[in-house]
Amino acid sequence: MSDLLRGLNPQQLAAVTLPPQHALILAGAGSGKTRVLTTRLAWLISTNQVDPAGVLAVTFTNKAAKEMLTRLSAMLPINTRGMWIGTFHGLCNRLLRAHYRDAGLPQLFQILDSADQLAAIKRLLKALNIDDEKFPPRELQHFINAQKEQGIRANAVEAWDGYVRQRVELYEAYEQQCQREGVVDFAELLLRSYELLSRNEPLRRHYQSRFRHILVDEFQDTNVLQYRWLKLLAGDGACLFCVGDDDQSIYAFRGADVGNMRDFEREYRVDNVIRLEQNYRSHGNILDAANAVIKNNLSRLGKNLWTEAGAGEPIRVFEAMSDGEEARWMVEEIKALVRDGHSRAEIALLYRSNAQSRILEHTLFSAGLPYRVYGGLRFFERQEIKHALAYLRLIANPDDDTAFARIVNFPPRGIGARSIEQLQDAARAAGSSLHAAIPAVPGKAGATLAAFAALIEKLHEAIELPLPELVEHAIELSALRSHYLTEKEGQDRVANLDELINAASSFTAEEGRVGEEGELAADLASFLSHAALEAGEHQAGEGDDALQLMTVHSAKGLEFNAVFISGLEEGLFPHENGIKEDKGLEEERRLMYVAVTRARQRLYLSFAQTRMLHGQTRYNMPSRFIEEIPAGLVKWLTPKIKVQAPGGRQVHTGVDSYRPTTRAQSGIGFRIGQSVKHAKFGPGVIVNAEGGGNDARVQVNFGKAGMKWLALSVAKLDAA
Ligand code: ATP
Ligand code: MG
Repeated sequence: MSDLLRGLNPQQLAAVTLPPQHALILAGAGSGKTRVLTTRLAWLISTNQVDPAGVLAVTFTNKAAKEMLTRLSAMLPINTRGMWIGTFHGLCNRLLRAHYRDAGLPQLFQILDSADQLAAIKRLLKALNIDDEKFPPRELQHFINAQKEQGIRANAVEAWDGYVRQRVELYEAYEQQCQREGVVDFAELLLRSYELLSRNEPLRRHYQSRFRHILVDEFQDTNVLQYRWLKLLAGDGACLFCVGDDDQSIYAFRGADVGNMRDFEREYRVDNVIRLEQNYRSHGNILDAANAVIKNNLSRLGKNLWTEAGAGEPIRVFEAMSDGEEARWMVEEIKALVRDGHSRAEIALLYRSNAQSRILEHTLFSAGLPYRVYGGLRFFERQEIKHALAYLRLIANPDDDTAFARIVNFPPRGIGARSIEQLQDAARAAGSSLHAAIPAVPGKAGATLAAFAALIEKLHEAIELPLPELVEHAIELSALRSHYLTEKEGQDRVANLDELINAASSFTAEEGRVGEEGELAADLASFLSHAALEAGEHQAGEGDDALQLMTVHSAKGLEFNAVFISGLEEGLFPHENGIKEDKGLEEERRLMYVAVTRARQRLYLSFAQTRMLHGQTRYNMPSRFIEEIPAGLVKWLTPKIKVQAPGGRQVHTGVDSYRPTTRAQSGIGFRIGQSVKHAKFGPGVIVNAEGGGNDARVQVNFGKAGMKWLALSVAKLDAA
């Protein structure tokens, strides 16, 4: 039992073992928030305060959710499969799958990722004959998502002028199109499940009484609707345990609202905000740099981090003539790190914008260094994979027009633009899907389309096959494989198609059983939603010792021994969109804080005098963030700016690490994890016990009143 709690510091221990109540843990990077959240989960379950089915935990990325499940299985001998741990999108998907009828969705509804959504919007504009100069599809997409993220349906948007009114009409038409086609976009997953719970009282009650504990990581980045969703699910009974760091709020541009933290504190009367200030991740210099940078932000809740680790190495700064030189320098440094025994997977290359990865990838590739890109063009977003998935989607639902439009003529089968237009007209006239409108198209066009319909029909007959075989069957019968085999550079694509079959096999083996109804069609549907939601997590060669490339946004919550932050130039990082206003600049600075605090031992910062970006050469100034780091922490690798003598830095030490005793308790009438009540200190939870008979003592966490050792012979402690 105490094994679980061993090594936690007093604040962490207090947070992990809090009595059942709402709690907010507000703490800086690397202070153990995620560890506390995971340990609390394990603690609640292992002390029988809650059943594994009675907790719900939300994390920000699939990677983090997987990590949590792995850590949990290591701590507890329970089967974590089937537990409600995941991202908002993942959990909402699960809810909607289980209650698709109540949610007004077809059983096999499909998920549109952001590229699919854009394609769907373009198709809509075309069908309505709307000028896409006047209504740029991307802007419309942004508008629609922003409304949904605030929980606003088309009929509830306040339209104050003609332009907005037209946008709202398009929003409405888009909603109808999605409904007709049986597809939902990412924002819809959340909104739809929110509406489901708020309108369906029995269902809401069911979940409210089921989830006793709701735990949220990275709470600072939840948006308005996500927060409302959490409140709805928590009802009056569940305990909300939120951890976050206002300094790491980096999704304001997507509607995330740090204000949620203040609202939460107020609305749930959290009178005991726990702060963690010891950082366990980074060496002193790195932490001091992070603290110094973030100090420049005015709107902060305010906190500082310290470490017991030594100052460590200085932060290395490199100025390159060009982006090419910067990349070559990184390759040399990386080679040296690897020679010194660092594993490649422990080295991260971070950048502000995805576009920066191209030159890095090119240089790493030429140098023969294996790497893995997160969040770039991800496995499930590759052209050949999306094509194969579109066939699978049509098997699941022939009315999925997005999938239909993607592959009706791929591989090419002589269905020209004219035939497709005819088909679209027919579908519009009949108010039906493209697939359903095929019989209405006359002549030769009609005949080729009918042949396509027959192909889909034939594929559909195979739906009873086990998932991996079904995938293979679709790849063969659709002629995708033979098509790519004839392409000059099609080998990689064929390899990826094979990888898709592998992905289906491992999905069936690992996660296929999550589906609550055991049908094969449901397997297919959950595989397809896995493909839409988990994009990026699966890649050929996964598990290899590869360098980690990603944007700063996707590095959130992760840690690496060595971190390179490249492209530290004004206009790039801070990004030009953010410089114009203070709010934007502060968000950029929080991003920098996130980037710096990913590093455990070594941090490299670099910038280039010239850089090719989006086809243009740019001449940038070094980022102000470099100047915000005290010179004493920095070692310049290029003689551009003079090195200053290291200044004195303070390391706080001497804090005793806390060790709960492990002696077994016997015959004292209380058990660990039990809720108790004390006349003076209020409700609490037994955390530890020692001694026996007249000497029996228990340690109790009273939340606000703190952690106390009480002698049972004296203290008046009642079971709660
Ligand atoms: P971030 O804000 O970046 O998400 P975090 O607050 O969630 O960070 P964690 O990732 O939980 O921090 O912890 C950072 C590192 O410190 C992890 O490697 C974790 O295992 C380690 N750690 C946390 N608490 C302790 C502790 N009491 N003793 C030793 N190591 C710890
Ligand atoms: Mg974390």
